[in-house]
Amino acid sequence: MNKLIYMDNHATTPVDNRVLDAMLPYFTEKFGNPASRQHKYGWVAEEAVESSRNLIAKFLNADAKEIYFTSGATESNNLALKGIAESHASKGRHIITCATEHKSVIDTCRRLEKSGYRVTYLPVDEFGIIDLENLKKAISTETILVSIMTANNEIGTIQDMSEIGNICKQNEILFHTDATQAVGKMNLNLKKMNVDLVSFSGHKIYGPKGIGVLYVHDRKPKTRLEPQMDGGGHERGLRSGTLNVPAIVGLAQALKLCYEEMEEEQIRVANFRDKMQNAFFSRLDDVYLNGHPTKRISNNLNMSFMYAEDSAIMMSMKEIAVSSGSACSTAQPQPSHVLKALGLSEDRRHSAIRFGLGRFNTEEEVDYVIDRVIEAVKSLRNLSPIYQKKVSKNN
Ligand SMILES: *Cc1c(COP(=O)(O)O)cnc(C)c1O
Repeated sequence: MNKLIYMDNHATTPVDNRVLDAMLPYFTEKFGNPASRQHKYGWVAEEAVESSRNLIAKFLNADAKEIYFTSGATESNNLALKGIAESHASKGRHIITCATEHKSVIDTCRRLEKSGYRVTYLPVDEFGIIDLENLKKAISTETILVSIMTANNEIGTIQDMSEIGNICKQNEILFHTDATQAVGKMNLNLKKMNVDLVSFSGHKIYGPKGIGVLYVHDRKPKTRLEPQMDGGGHERGLRSGTLNVPAIVGLAQALKLCYEEMEEEQIRVANFRDKMQNAFFSRLDDVYLNGHPTKRISNNLNMSFMYAEDSAIMMSMKEIAVSSGSACSTAQPQPSHVLKALGLSEDRRHSAIRFGLGRFNTEEEVDYVIDRVIEAVKSLRNLSPIYQKKVSKNN
């Protein structure tokens, strides 16, 4: 196989051709600004944005007026946390989140801490799950927001959304979730979920980069958020800035395809994932699964190959795009705070590879990757004095 193989679909996904086709006219002949209310160019663009909003709302079982467009999940997370923190400061200044959140939640919380908010970072168990008793204990009269991700981007672990939602509701605390890795892969029913704010992104679901959504539950009394961008008052005043019409059309089309093909696609991808996992367990010793064995999104496989360093494994199979435990999801490579939060040993963290399967992976690619990884791990272990010593002791 002399082409590249992409298995890093948690980092980003290619734009599906059907999504691109839907987007193209909005770059060229239908280029209008939806805020131009006085002519046809504007009306055509506005109609595209509003029908996209309706489509997105329909699939998530939300109302169109609950969907706000942003530049991506990073912005949605910033807007949700800072927006709620600022508008609710008089009620309290305490936020609860968890140790394995995406950097766009963790670093937003760190900034809020600098401006006088208190943040509890709930620990997780060895599988990445928070303890609901810990959550209950952390809640105080000062707590204004709980932010817990639906599915983790490194290990795929899915939290118990309905229980967390119930706890927040009983305590009358707003609940935000970063659902970037879950949307399009799980059937989220936002009306039933007891969730107030949800973030997700276009480029993780075969849509374009630079577009995201913040869902804000329309309830009484209204959930107030302080806007983080001043300007023309777009998106009902919550997010100023000219709307990215082609990307909005693309996001809606991408979500539609995910929903239409979800059942079939999730089974296919999970089968590939299981095939890889079983092959690594049966053909190699000293391998570990990172994350939860069952409460996990279908496309995630994060495994540690002891006595073989993650970066060395990747260097020896350069035609395969995966992620290591140390460079996930951030611009600056740093040790994974997620694997650390699981309490994994340093050796296990430094030999972790994340495989992110996706819509366009084939069985042929899966078989090829299995063989290449096993080959790479075995040859690295042959060079490892510690591994050799261990093997000779066992014989
Ligand atoms: C990718 C990702 C983000 C960031 O999304 P962008 O649209 O790239 O800003 C946030 N949270 C999670 C869980 C992600 O996987």
